[in-house]
Amino acid sequence: MKPYEKILQRARELASKIIELRREFHQHPELALQEMNTAKRVKRVLKELGIETRMLVNGTGLVGRLKGGKSGKTLALRADIDALPIQEELDLPYKSENAGVMHACGHDAHAAMLLGAAMILCEMKKELTGNVVFIFQPAEETGEGAKKMVEEGALAGVDSIVAIHVNSSLSSGTFGYHCGPIMAAGDFFDVKITGKGGHGGMPHLAIDPIVIASIAISTLQTLVSREVDPIESAVLSICKMDAGGKAYNIIPDSANFGGTIRSLKPELREYLPKRIKEILDGIVPAMRGRYEFNLLERFPVTINDDRMTALVARVAGEILGKERVVDVKPLMGSEDFSYYLQKVPGVYAFLGTRNVEKGITYPHHHPRFDIDEGALSIGAGLNAVFALEYLRESER
Ligand SMILES: [Zn+2]
Ligand SMILES: [Zn+2]
Repeated sequence: MKPYEKILQRARELASKIIELRREFHQHPELALQEMNTAKRVKRVLKELGIETRMLVNGTGLVGRLKGGKSGKTLALRADIDALPIQEELDLPYKSENAGVMHACGHDAHAAMLLGAAMILCEMKKELTGNVVFIFQPAEETGEGAKKMVEEGALAGVDSIVAIHVNSSLSSGTFGYHCGPIMAAGDFFDVKITGKGGHGGMPHLAIDPIVIASIAISTLQTLVSREVDPIESAVLSICKMDAGGKAYNIIPDSANFGGTIRSLKPELREYLPKRIKEILDGIVPAMRGRYEFNLLERFPVTINDDRMTALVARVAGEILGKERVVDVKPLMGSEDFSYYLQKVPGVYAFLGTRNVEKGITYPHHHPRFDIDEGALSIGAGLNAVFALEYLRESER
């Protein structure tokens, strides 16, 4: 019998308990930095297990610490627990009771899977050659939670970290991993172009901010197409724009636009905003305008450690079978798990929760998003085995 057969067996036995917890979180979703009740509920479960906890980020997050029977390294397992400002459209018996708030990214599943792993690991703590830290983090969606958790000491004494995110494009129970960058750096920016308003029929008496903004936006598109190595990945999308009022014949005073810059390399993350400014510096004054540029730095690149990635891929392959473990392409979405990975080596991986037969196919952040609950005990088991194997490997 494989050493972790017992863990998988236990995960299967706990399946209904884990599903029940997931449904409870799903029914009572809380927005970023408001997760007090979710955090309290998590704390209660950990307390029942005899795991000591510490509340962080004003009681919206917490860390639980399980001391193993033998001394060794410490692995952190992370779940994010925040929901999104979305009105749920599915008519589930455990539908969100908070109007306009929904667990549409699967963070309810993350919390439940990690609690499942805590239950399993607690039962075998004597066998653990090291410690496990359970991180329940608020505000992933806004990119604020992980940073605050790290600042408040969530990684104290932690050697490595692992996170599993459910994934609506991988079929249920499939494990997705990738070495190196897996989630993009994602930052936002706003630009305000100021010209001089006037009559639409007499443009020579005005300074038209709309034309300046149009030329600036078109030119900014050359950053990715002409300045980034075609083998590298970067995105610059202008996602909002506003100028003028209702009139067809008034040139407005100013025009605003903004968007997002994404890349898979820290160097590009620095390079692109610098070049946006330089392009604006060239174009806007040349066209007699002025501009303000405001960069909102949000997510660093999420870079998986080679050794940790190899470990989870190997273990997942042994548990699920190699055909259910896939090397996925990096995504241009962002993750604040990157803040932990700036401090300790770790890995961020995916667990498929898509189930076409059950009609569970909607993407993350969609009002009809759902997960195949059949994958939850697999996620709990994986979390537990990752901890066990990491501690065992580090001992050698
Ligand atoms: Zn999300
Ligand atoms: Zn998410």
